[in-house]
Amino acid sequence: MELFAVPDLPEIREGDDLAAMIADRVDLREDDVVCVASTVVSKAEGRTADLDDFPPGPRATEIARNLEEISGDEKDPRFAQAVLENCTDVVMAEPFILTEAPFGHVSVNAGIDRSNVPDHDLLLLPERPSESAGHVHESLPESPPVLVTDTAGRSFRHGQRALTIGWAGMPASRDWRGETDRDGHELQVTVQSVVDELAGAANLVSGEGDGGDPVVIVRDWEFGDHDGSDNLFREMRGDFVRQALRVWEFD
Ligand code: GDP
Ligand code: MN
Ligand code: MN
Ligand code: MN
Repeated sequence: MELFAVPDLPEIREGDDLAAMIADRVDLREDDVVCVASTVVSKAEGRTADLDDFPPGPRATEIARNLEEISGDEKDPRFAQAVLENCTDVVMAEPFILTEAPFGHVSVNAGIDRSNVPDHDLLLLPERPSESAGHVHESLPESPPVLVTDTAGRSFRHGQRALTIGWAGMPASRDWRGETDRDGHELQVTVQSVVDELAGAANLVSGEGDGGDPVVIVRDWEFGDHDGSDNLFREMRGDFVRQALRVWEFD
C-alpha cells in the first residue's frame, strides 16, 4: 500500500466543496481510501464558534472552577459550557472533561479544537461525521471510501494518535472471528478496527502542526475477504471501563 497527501489544499472555509477540491487535485480510484481530517470537514461545514457564544451556566462554572483548582491554570467557564453543549454524556468532569459526542465518540472536551482555527476561538466536531463522510464519498469521482479522522489521546498510554470518527463506503472493522490462527485455533474475539489503523497511517503523513495536509489517500490497500462490522463506538452498557469510571465519579 501507499499513502500520499492531496497536494496544495488551501485554508478551508465554510461552504467549501471538499470533494471537488480533492477531485481537482488527485485522479481517484474506486479502491482508494480518502482520509480527511475532521478539522477541515468542520471548517467546510461552518462548525466554528466563539467563546462568547457560550454564556456559562452553573454546572460549567463549577466544572471550570474545579479544573482551575486542580491544575492551577486559568480555565474559561465559557469553554466548559461549549463542551457541555456539545456532548450527550460527561464521563469524567475532572481532572479533564471526558465526554461522549451525540454520535457516540468518547473524547476529551467534546473534541472541540483550538488549534488551526483562524478567525474564531473554537472548532466543533462535525455534527454527524459519518454523514459528512457519506457526502464526500458520494460526491467524489469513483466514490471511494471516505474516513473522517480526529486526533485523540488514549487511555493507559501517552501520546496522541488519529482515530476515525466517521466513515462511509466501507465497514469500520474486519471481523476475524471464526477464522483460524497459524495453529488452527479459531479466533474468538478479534475484530480489527481497520478505519482507526488507516487513520493512524494517514496521520503519519498529515502530522499535527502547520503542515497543511488534511487529506491523505491510501492506495492499493484491500479490505480483503472478511466480514465487516460498523460497530465502532462502545455503548455504555457493554463498556466496563467507563462504568467503573462512573462509579468512581459518584463515590
Ligand atoms: P484534527 O486532527 O482533525 O484536529 O486536525 P489537525 O488540526 O491536526 O490538522 C490536520 C492537518 O491538517 C495538519 O497538517 C494541519 O496543518 C492541516 N490543516 C488544518 N486545517 C487546514 C486547512 O484549512 N487547510 C489545509 N490545507 N490544511 C489544514
Ligand atoms: Mn487540530
Ligand atoms: Mn481535532
Ligand atoms: Mn490532528
